[in-house]
Amino acid sequence: MHIAHRVADMKESATLAVGARVNALRAQGIDVIGFAMGEPDFDTPPSIKRAAIHALDLGMTKYAPTAGEKSARESIARKLREENGISCRAEDVTVTVGAKHAVYMALQTMIEPGRGDEVILPTPAWVSYRPLIELAGAVCIEVPSSIEHGFRVTAAQIERAITPRTTAILLNSPSNPCGIVYPAAELKAIVDVIAANPKIAIISDEIYEKLIFPEVLPSVTHWSPGSDPRVAERTVTINGLSKAFAMTGWRIGYLCAPGSNGRFAKEVIKLQGQMTNSIPSFFFPAIVEALSPSLALEVEQMRKAFAGRAKLTHRLLSTIPGFKTVESTGAFYAFPHIGELLGRVSPGGRAIDSAQAFADALLDEAHVAVVAGEDFGVCARSHIRFSFACSTAQLELGIARVDQFVRSLKSRTAASVGV
Ligand code: PMP
Ligand code: GLU
Repeated sequence: MHIAHRVADMKESATLAVGARVNALRAQGIDVIGFAMGEPDFDTPPSIKRAAIHALDLGMTKYAPTAGEKSARESIARKLREENGISCRAEDVTVTVGAKHAVYMALQTMIEPGRGDEVILPTPAWVSYRPLIELAGAVCIEVPSSIEHGFRVTAAQIERAITPRTTAILLNSPSNPCGIVYPAAELKAIVDVIAANPKIAIISDEIYEKLIFPEVLPSVTHWSPGSDPRVAERTVTINGLSKAFAMTGWRIGYLCAPGSNGRFAKEVIKLQGQMTNSIPSFFFPAIVEALSPSLALEVEQMRKAFAGRAKLTHRLLSTIPGFKTVESTGAFYAFPHIGELLGRVSPGGRAIDSAQAFADALLDEAHVAVVAGEDFGVCARSHIRFSFACSTAQLELGIARVDQFVRSLKSRTAASVGV
């Protein structure tokens, strides 16, 4: 059977690939400490589970409207209006199979394959963006940041990346994998540039919105580009329940596109109607419950735990020789630079000549899983990603193993003379 190039040539998700390797090693009885998956270790709050169980008991087991039950779309639209300042109606909202599917559908709906469309992507960026941009038929234009500049690109860099073919910019603050949050003023400066270029759409992936850490940086806030009236009409805001509500396995995301007089949202719903139809019908009451004010306390407790882990992770990583790192102010990732360690040899005799080689040797020899930087963008090549969505005990134990592994790396000459 023929396999289409657009699928065959697509990279597999590096995050999911490491997750699968960890599971396989654990199945062999190996005690792996996993910092690879961006998945909260908490369980879903009980009242959200109860809402879904109750819906099942009531017989909510039939097809639901493609874009989602009205009550859930209304809750989402209300949340976006009240918390994010986005002027929208329930009709502008589509409930999707996770935020990943929302990113896929937004790109499919706005990219014209074969036209040379370009999508600007500030990097380091989540591993799935480039494949999804390319699958939709666009060219991914990376705009690199660096650890020295706090992993943030500037409005001037974005301005320079714009061409007549630029169709969209994909923003993600708080950021996976950088663990940083753009100050509102810097994001607004980027939006100023887009406002002056009326053909460019914004896709704003705000999945980590609730996970920001004033405990680390008191001034940190979340700001939604879709709240700016100059670009509201051409901004697609993406969010979901996976991260803030510890609901990764439920696969609930959403997309809000108030623009084009409702036409964009309608086209997205048409696409979803031919792909998946709605998410499971008995999840809709769970969405309403998750977005109700009574859940705020539980979300806050999880956020606080992540803030504590952000500090601990930074403290522990900072003492590892050759690691350069910034303290995370949002999401649950640390993304240290390990460039100084490249060129060495692992205790098992493997050449550490890339972040991928480092991550592979770390997993095989020290049984600690991280994600190598390569698939997060060209500028991310000498980095590795730690997800600190795990217990402090795991963090202490796992990072101690990393420390020991790094200290046992040999220079190439020492390794070749058997020192
Ligand atoms: N966007 C970003 C930045 C992510 O890190 C992830 C990973 N979960 C997603 C979207 C997809 O989330 P979901 O699990 O809801 O598909
Ligand atoms: N987004 C999470 C991560 O980056 C979950 C895995 C995935 O979908 O990429 O680890």
